[in-house]
Amino acid sequence: MSNNHQVNEKGLLIILSSPSGAGKSTLAQRIKSWDENCVFSISATTRKPREGEQDGKDYYFISEQEFHEKVSNDEMLEHAEVFGNFYGSPMAPVLSSIDQGYDVLFDVDWQGSQQIKNSSLGKYVLSIFILPPSIKELESRLKSRNKDSDEVISNRMAKSVEEISHWPEYDYVVVNDDVDKTEEKLKTIITAERLRLSQQPGIVRFVRGLNNEFGEL
Ligand code: ADP
Ligand code: 5GP
Repeated sequence: MSNNHQVNEKGLLIILSSPSGAGKSTLAQRIKSWDENCVFSISATTRKPREGEQDGKDYYFISEQEFHEKVSNDEMLEHAEVFGNFYGSPMAPVLSSIDQGYDVLFDVDWQGSQQIKNSSLGKYVLSIFILPPSIKELESRLKSRNKDSDEVISNRMAKSVEEISHWPEYDYVVVNDDVDKTEEKLKTIITAERLRLSQQPGIVRFVRGLNNEFGEL
């Protein structure tokens, strides 16, 4: 991280939510590939790993007992039951990352988003809702991902109506039709958010320097 005037006091908490299959994980990976100032919040879940998923990279795969212990010890920034499994975002890595000026990217459902916004870190939140171009396309993406059973897919499709109903609670809404164009839109949103005055406390010192230069002319 550079030490110039654009370094933020605290990083942003960037929340991506969408109905399952709309493309959050794909987009999160793409953001990560160009944004060196961004780290993922790795959630803990009681869901079983999908083929290819790695513990500590995609999720922390833990038992229900461990999950409930972490919740009662206040170790989770937010937590929720989604599709019959428990998911939560561990608090400690988020605090340490934003204190160092890193942005933290969350892939959480609407319940998680509401809890993070209502937490003491709410003022640092940038929330983005991803919509699929159509429900037919959403189903086809869930199927083409080829990682869930037919039963799991129909359960997720049934829940997508509820998830989509929360779109007005987000700062930005983006339809993920063409993935490259969506990625560009996310880049624009994140870049603009970083340039907010409230995100650039170092700018005061920078402008003072400009004024000093005037004095030396
Ligand atoms: P989510 O994380 O929201 O559940 P994923 O990122 O896993 O969704 O995407 C679901 C499937 O759709 C994956 O196979 C992914 O490659 C594909 N996908 C994502 N975005 C697009 C897009 N814009 N166009 C076509 N397919 C996409
Ligand atoms: P999946 O099982 O497909 O990885 O995720 C299912 C849903 O759980 C997605 O909507 C995802 O955003 C949500 N999810 C993943 N991690 C968390 C988390 O830590 N907290 C909350 N509230 N939702 C999560």
